[in-house]
Amino acid sequence: MDLSVIIPIYNEEANISTLYQRLRGVIDPMGIQCEFIFINDGSRDSSLPLILDLAARHPDVRYINFSRNFGHQIAVTAGLDLSQGQAVAIIDADLQDPPELIPELYRKMREGYEVVYAKRRRREGESAMKLFTAKMFYRILAKITNVSIPVDTGDFRIISRKVVQALKQMPEQNKFLRGQISWIGYRQTYVEYDRAQRAGGETGYTYRKMIKLALDGITAFSDVPLKAATLMGFGATGIAFLVLLYTLFERFVTRNYQPGWASLMVSILFLGGVQLIAVGIIGEYLARLSANVRQRPLYIISDTNISEPAPVGRG
Ligand code: UDP
Ligand code: MG
Repeated sequence: MDLSVIIPIYNEEANISTLYQRLRGVIDPMGIQCEFIFINDGSRDSSLPLILDLAARHPDVRYINFSRNFGHQIAVTAGLDLSQGQAVAIIDADLQDPPELIPELYRKMREGYEVVYAKRRRREGESAMKLFTAKMFYRILAKITNVSIPVDTGDFRIISRKVVQALKQMPEQNKFLRGQISWIGYRQTYVEYDRAQRAGGETGYTYRKMIKLALDGITAFSDVPLKAATLMGFGATGIAFLVLLYTLFERFVTRNYQPGWASLMVSILFLGGVQLIAVGIIGEYLARLSANVRQRPLYIISDTNISEPAPVGRG
């Protein structure tokens, strides 16, 4: 098997057949042996019957049907776990990632790279809010990690079997694949493209899911927030100490003191705020720590046509 194409699906009934046709249109001429792995991530529309129909008609279409919605990163992980190709392409189902780029990614890989990611030159039809938050996120992440995670790059990419093997050895429950792939290293390169609009349907990435992904990325690849909490603590303590000196001076030297309601309130609120922020940051890390200690399977497969599947996915 030369190439596996991994396609996570969450409510994509409007896009599946066009996507499949476009994929075939670019991959068949490449003359390589290829499998298409559709992962149905608990869709509530008729995505599943469409996938089952494709699988019934084409022997190279595989499907993995999850027992519920586990999220995009987990869906891709399941695809990676059960893929067989020497190279593996990850692509969104909504045609925002043009299938036509796959041959170029593949060619680059054959030049001797283990990872070829697709970097967005422009993004169309996305809300200003999404563009802004995404931009900020990638910049901040780049600042606070030691791993150089490429900016403006999603999961659309081709990776080699070596990288898939390495990913399988990374047990974290909160996946941030693009970060993990950067962490793995090897020779990596990119191809630029203009990101299109979503072809049909609507985004499955709610703000809630985006915030989770962002926090997963940050907590998995940086301890800076924890250190910032410590710094804030030192800062607040420093200020409190100055206020203390000032108060003592007023009380005993100038003997010019007022009932100190304002200063008291200000310092209580300030310290309370700093403490809550610090506790919250610790909580984010702790929650992920406990998820990893629980060692639950990452996903549960309801059914699949891939032979000998692992019934559950280990992290
Ligand atoms: N997706 C998924 N599970 C989810 C949300 C999304 O498998 O819980 C899939 C979705 O079907 C698509 C890809 O992940 O193939 C990217 O999602 P989407 O296009 O909704 O995200 P956006 O492009 O808006 O960031
Ligand atoms: Mg999309």
